[in-house]
Amino acid sequence: MTVEPFRNQPVETFATPEAQAAMRHALREVRARFGGHYPLIIGGARVDTPRRLVSTNPSNPSEVVGTTAQAGAAEAEAALEAAWKAFPSWSALSQEARSRALLKAAAILKERRREFEAWMVYEIGKNWVEASADVAEAIDFLEYYARQAIRYAAGAPVYPYPNEDNESIYLPLGAGVVIAPWNFPLAILTGMTAGPLAVGNTVVVKPAEDTVVLAAKLFEVLEAAGLPPGVANFLPGLGEEVGAYLVAHPRTRFINFTGSLEVGLKIGEAAARLAPGQRWIKRVFLELGGKDAIIVDESADLAAAAAGIIQSAYGFQGQKCSACSRLIVVEPVYEPLMEQLLERASRLTVGPAEENPDLGPLASAQQAETVGSYLKVGQEEARLRLGGERLEGAGFFFPPTIFDRVDPEARIAQEEIFGPVLSVITVPDFNTALEVANGTRYGLTGGVYSRNRDHLEKARREFHVGNLYLNRKITGALVGVQPFGGFNLSGTDTKAGGPDYLLNFLQMKSITERW
Ligand code: NAD
Repeated sequence: MTVEPFRNQPVETFATPEAQAAMRHALREVRARFGGHYPLIIGGARVDTPRRLVSTNPSNPSEVVGTTAQAGAAEAEAALEAAWKAFPSWSALSQEARSRALLKAAAILKERRREFEAWMVYEIGKNWVEASADVAEAIDFLEYYARQAIRYAAGAPVYPYPNEDNESIYLPLGAGVVIAPWNFPLAILTGMTAGPLAVGNTVVVKPAEDTVVLAAKLFEVLEAAGLPPGVANFLPGLGEEVGAYLVAHPRTRFINFTGSLEVGLKIGEAAARLAPGQRWIKRVFLELGGKDAIIVDESADLAAAAAGIIQSAYGFQGQKCSACSRLIVVEPVYEPLMEQLLERASRLTVGPAEENPDLGPLASAQQAETVGSYLKVGQEEARLRLGGERLEGAGFFFPPTIFDRVDPEARIAQEEIFGPVLSVITVPDFNTALEVANGTRYGLTGGVYSRNRDHLEKARREFHVGNLYLNRKITGALVGVQPFGGFNLSGTDTKAGGPDYLLNFLQMKSITERW
């Protein structure tokens, strides 16, 4: 197989009139297809259910983007059965054949890029650029894992030994379950699915309830790319019902989960229990939340810091696990930095995602409720400097919010809010800043703005996060460039988009023949 070296897909900025026109066209086309219904896909067959999941537009929740079937226990059984049935032939295919299927899927997604962005704008409220970044990342995952998988086909090098032939080969695990969040409805879902598939596993995919239409669209792409029936099965349903059922099932070989800490811990616990008839220890990958901080010291370029903090805190309304939700600033630059932040944040626009504002709506009524309740907590715990209340309008619109004088132990400094809320903590010096930054149970992303070499080096050594960024924003990890995954309770550090990711879904068999 000869393919170009991996390169990240560029994100569309929509700066040109042509790009804007293409996006408006895609939005119109997609809107005309609102209300479609998507059944489950089990072993290649469409399966409908009496119960449905309804996906609405968070910019205007009275609009139904689409509906899907809603799986229960019987469909989960059938999907696992189909995945195991497909496993022997999929795992026996040549690595090139499997990689080609993923590369073909990437090619189809590239062609349908604007359309996918438009679905995302409507289904989860990303603005155009955020939607473009999400689709680009999904393409990257397909392209990257297709190439990385080739590395494992040759097995691992071992030393020769007299009178013996020794080899170590990599084998896939079997049929596993993918359980995804709504906040990167295409990128994370695609990455978590493509990784295990690339190296010969088969999967049952349980997307998040709020983004089932995008998940159905991904399955259109996988089918068009020629993925054999049963290799990936589409199983939308309720997390606590069908998700929990799949997790506890004795035939589930591995669980690839991204979502909240609370659900992740439950999954870890349930998966550790041996179910009757179960013949293996389930492998469990849990990528969870964050309470990510940016530190700004007295030597920093404050304009660059302000720009990076705004992007990190308010991109996709702060609904990223990597979002900056704590700013830790040393006393001498607190006032001037605050001034720049308030000025920039107050200029951000909020509105329906299809109009491409800086901030679209929060993703759901549930998100609006949680973030709204933290705004109340914040007003009790700290000083409100900007925003603080839900905005008028049909959608779940919230303004950029800034609290300062936040105690490092306050709830708004410790708990993941997952909204456009920044907690500003002032500290006397850089060492204290690092202590505060490391002072939560999470450890996903973190950043430092500084021109002090000692500080930057100290942060490299001591800032305990899976993804550390110096003098730039802390969101937007690129596949193949910044492998992504968290420390501590942020997760099991699977490092999505990294060179070791696929090993998670392989087991090594050592074979020796004595002559
Ligand atoms: P969530 O935990 O509520 O849901 C995630 C998925 O789990 C959904 O598909 C849901 O249906 C399912 N689920 C819910 N209960 C379940 C159960 N008992 N058993 C099995 N499955 C169940 O998370 P969310 O609200 O969709 O996503 C937001 C969270 O995800 C945030 O905490 C965010 O930080 C985190 N996240 C982490 C990363 C990362 O890479 N570390 C990336 C994106 C999002």
